[in-house]
Amino acid sequence: MIDTPLGQALNKGEPLLWLNPAYQATQSEQSELSLTDIHQADQRLRRFAPLLSQLFPELQDSNGLIESELLPADALKQQYFSALPGRLMIKGDHALPVAGSIKARGGIHEVLCHAEHLALKHSLLSNTDDDYLTLTSPAAKALFNHYEIAVSSTGNLGLSIGVIGAALGFKVIVHMSMEAKDWKKKRLRDRGVTVVEHSDDYSAAVAAGRAASDADPKSYFVDDENSPRLFLGYAVAALRLQQQLIEQQIQVDAKHPLFVYIPCGVGGAPGGINFGLKQIFGPYVHCFFAEPVQAPCVLVGMQSSADSEPDSVYSLGLKVDTEADGLAVSMASKWVCSVMQNILSGVFTVADDELFSQLYQLFQTEAIQIEPSAAAGFAGPRWLTESEQGKTYQSQQTLEQCMSNATHLIWTTGGLFVPPEEMQKFQQRGARAVRS
Ligand SMILES: *Cc1c(COP(=O)(O)O)cnc(C)c1O
Repeated sequence: MIDTPLGQALNKGEPLLWLNPAYQATQSEQSELSLTDIHQADQRLRRFAPLLSQLFPELQDSNGLIESELLPADALKQQYFSALPGRLMIKGDHALPVAGSIKARGGIHEVLCHAEHLALKHSLLSNTDDDYLTLTSPAAKALFNHYEIAVSSTGNLGLSIGVIGAALGFKVIVHMSMEAKDWKKKRLRDRGVTVVEHSDDYSAAVAAGRAASDADPKSYFVDDENSPRLFLGYAVAALRLQQQLIEQQIQVDAKHPLFVYIPCGVGGAPGGINFGLKQIFGPYVHCFFAEPVQAPCVLVGMQSSADSEPDSVYSLGLKVDTEADGLAVSMASKWVCSVMQNILSGVFTVADDELFSQLYQLFQTEAIQIEPSAAAGFAGPRWLTESEQGKTYQSQQTLEQCMSNATHLIWTTGGLFVPPEEMQKFQQRGARAVRS
């Protein structure tokens, strides 16, 4: 695609907004997954909630549910988005407990699926109405310790899988790609997780991790590129958000559109959320993914033909060179791209300097601290309301008349466990970026 106008623009590494030409406000095709599957994932998380609350004291207040707040962003809006029509809000997954990132819902759901399956098979649980607290027994730990869970990660997925896997008693191996931060590796090793460091990129770490795990029948591989279990765990966020919108009396309907801006790596987390929100809000929700200018793998993957592997961003002369480690992915999940085909509104790209200035501005106005990956969504509202492409989208979807009733929701996806000295460096770089 390097010889197309879009390919040329991406190659230059300049930020842009791409509108998905295959987007359909009302879906015609039935997907292999449904709202029922999302409810089942939610039910599974609820079955495990008493156990989670025992394993992780920070979940006691929420009775074992791993959820984040829906926050107004009035100060940020006043200072930096004063011309934005509608309401500005933040979905605060930067503070998601246990894993400290959006990976908590998906990663923990997948490990719980596996643990539940093993426990039922080995009669530790007689059925899904049984008391799940028995899974903290020495017998359960001994069973889980027979099995290995493996995953490849740029950092945050490994953190999520490693923390829950180790807490249940599994052996956990995390294959880290080259961009993984040292503090994320240390946090895992401190919990007894084996961390294998790869000097290659994420897609290569996935291939290596998958091959090693497939060779061992007792090893279960959490496959970020092909996992409905991860995807459905992420999608549960949509049910939770629906509830929070109701509680805060925020309408989403034909006259009150909801725009959601989510940072995107391989595509699973934002894809699951996009899918879940579409099941609930149909044509009234509009999801845009945010990717680094150096790693727009889902944007590229959405152009690739259905019968081949997605193109990698390297084929466009890009280098995956970004401080947004959570988004540093060269090749998208083919499966996620196919599920997104008609439901994703578009993708915008963000330069690293902008990530840092956004995280600085967010801290200055709202006292919220996030990691660079989690800042990618903040460029969204401007792309939608001020750019040529954004105006085209508004007119295609006949939204111009209701923009002043819109809710713009920026998803902040990670940051809780960033060590203070790292956070200080991010803030300093942000302050420099804002001044220049
Ligand atoms: C993983 C991650 C994302 C994106 O999720 P994908 O499933 O890789 O698309 C966004 N932000 C942060 C902080 C992440 O760790």
